[in-house]
Amino acid sequence: MSAVIVVHGGAWSIPEHLAEASVDGVKAAARAGSSVLLGGGSALDAVEAAVRALEDNSVFNAGHGATLNIDGEVELDAIIMDGRTLACGAVSSVKNIANPVTLARAVMEKTEHVMLTGRGANQFAESVGVAAVPPEALVSEYERKEWQKHKTYVTGVEEDFSSRWAHDTVGAVAVDRAGNVACATSTGGIRNKMVGRVGDSPVIGCGGYADNSIGAVSCTGHGESILKVTLARLILSHVEQGKSVEESSRLSLQHMADRVRGSGGSIAVSPSGEWAATFTTTRMAWAAVDQEGLWYGLDPNDRFQETLSQ
Ligand code: ASP
Repeated sequence: MSAVIVVHGGAWSIPEHLAEASVDGVKAAARAGSSVLLGGGSALDAVEAAVRALEDNSVFNAGHGATLNIDGEVELDAIIMDGRTLACGAVSSVKNIANPVTLARAVMEKTEHVMLTGRGANQFAESVGVAAVPPEALVSEYERKEWQKHKTYVTGVEEDFSSRWAHDTVGAVAVDRAGNVACATSTGGIRNKMVGRVGDSPVIGCGGYADNSIGAVSCTGHGESILKVTLARLILSHVEQGKSVEESSRLSLQHMADRVRGSGGSIAVSPSGEWAATFTTTRMAWAAVDQEGLWYGLDPNDRFQETLSQ
């Protein structure tokens, strides 16, 4: 069984000045996840490593560089899920944690719960030794300037969402050599969101889902739309009925567009290593490593390949 990892850096209208850095960032994260898999690590370890790399890169809206809410604060959401057992951990509205995906994993492994939010998530972080950082340390100069320029939340869905607003969530899905799948998703949400707004990303079945008997998915896009159609689970329902991960992703994103006029993107992998990166926004930076090498893209129909130098 060959291991596969796929990562995304958010589905939106990525401006030209962020295009190269976004592609470089997803390629580096896919390489980070892939070296965990090649070293014999689990799919769960690989998605955490890949998402941490994206959270640490301020080009993306997760961890460092996250978008700001209406009050100009960072509020982060993340999820991680293990397809072996359906164990899942999530955090929402955390302000001062640099790698929320790691805190989500601690929720999964060290509590009886699936999601912790706000103050409770911070108290738990302290109790398990996940270090807090000053909230301002996560705010990039670029985001502060953009926030000062744009003071309203995205109103419409398709038109506004895919063309104008910053919201580049990150995510990863993987299958390891033993056939175990996992997913992880992490975000700062959508700029100018209300204080306390939680999107799809940390919600099980919406921002992500992983089940060894079907596959793993991580989603990005207009959170309220993704929540309404439970996008990650919807994609896997199509896979369960025998469709390819590519077709299942396309059909589900189309359903979201038709039913609630929502746009977004997803990455998916099956236990046999079949994978897809699909979006209905103008762009989504994505990268994948499979047995043939490193694949990546940004615009619709992109599918570039590089050999991996190990
Ligand atoms: N889905 C995220 C949210 O609504 C945003 C994104 O994926 O860009 O919080």
